[in-house]
Amino acid sequence: MGKMHGSCVCGAIKVDVDGDVMTGICHCIDCRKTSGTTAVPWLMCATSAVDIKGQPKGFTTRSSNKYEVKRWFCPECGSGTHLTMPNPEMVGLMGGLFPPHTLPPPNMELFCKNKESWEASFGDNVRVCDEQPDWAAEAAEREKAGAAGAAGVAQGH
Ligand SMILES: [Zn+2]
Ligand SMILES: [Zn+2]
Repeated sequence: MGKMHGSCVCGAIKVDVDGDVMTGICHCIDCRKTSGTTAVPWLMCATSAVDIKGQPKGFTTRSSNKYEVKRWFCPECGSGTHLTMPNPEMVGLMGGLFPPHTLPPPNMELFCKNKESWEASFGDNVRVCDEQPDWAAEAAEREKAGAAGAAGVAQGH
């Protein structure tokens, strides 16, 4: 994955990524409401690979996620920018910040139980989840499975 450069609509917040990205399309209620759309393509990256310039504001949600997340946005123009989680090593970036034709294809889809009947399928290589997987349980499974772990996350299976 090469470098990616994104920004909010007014340009006050700029986001650079230089590293691996896993894309999850989220249909959860909080993503719907905060984005005003039916789904958000989140680019999940290592925090160390992301550089955010500007002064975003954060708002904490937890209703449809099992843990609290902070959703950040530009206070000038209102564009959603990113998401921080209890795990400080990972950050989620809103895909729409980046120019057309630069987004990697999705690896997984979350909260598909909320998906509208007319929303498209993203193909056979995408892991489809009705809600949110139990990340802690899956991490423990991978721990048991050993070194294959990291590859398993990237593929979403
Ligand atoms: Zn802005
Ligand atoms: Zn969501």
